[in-house]
Amino acid sequence: MPDISILWSEEFLGVAYRYFDLRMNVIPLFQNRKHASDVWNETVHWWSDHDIKMRFIESGDQYWFILASESRRPDHNLSFFKVLPKSNNYLRFKKGHMGEAYLCFASYTKKDEKDVKNDAVCNCSHTKEEHDGRCLADGCNCDKFASFELKLLKKKKTVTNIKFLDEKEVKDDSVSWNCLYINKYKNSA
Ligand SMILES: [Zn+2]
Ligand SMILES: [Zn+2]
Repeated sequence: MPDISILWSEEFLGVAYRYFDLRMNVIPLFQNRKHASDVWNETVHWWSDHDIKMRFIESGDQYWFILASESRRPDHNLSFFKVLPKSNNYLRFKKGHMGEAYLCFASYTKKDEKDVKNDAVCNCSHTKEEHDGRCLADGCNCDKFASFELKLLKKKKTVTNIKFLDEKEVKDDSVSWNCLYINKYKNSA
């Protein structure tokens, strides 16, 4: 039986993957800066880098993102998970991470056409200038300009315990098994 005292949280929006500072960065996204920094200070701050576990459990077109660690403040510890679609950025991270990543948090803000400069890039990859509401670029079927802004917190942790697993293999990895048992199998049994 998995340890059911572990508290799992999915109170974040998603995960971004970015390459900078010579390493891949894995960036859980929060609605605002205060929430991001509160969660970091309450939880992640108390983790030791070498103990942080990052897991990616693939299941069809989706994957479970799992982030957990022992804590120097075990009574207040929290573990994180989110079920997400396999995006191109995720697949790029999977291919390119080389066993190491920076973990940092960020706030995620949606930006409308009126909020940004002319050279701002839409999620369809064309600039604001190429839009008049819908995108005017040849062959693009984007019907509304939309972009977003990430603001990264300064604090980082280095994660080296990274595993990609298929859902079939989940029983062999205790943190992954715990997460899926508590958040998926227990309720559907
Ligand atoms: Zn567009
Ligand atoms: Zn476009």
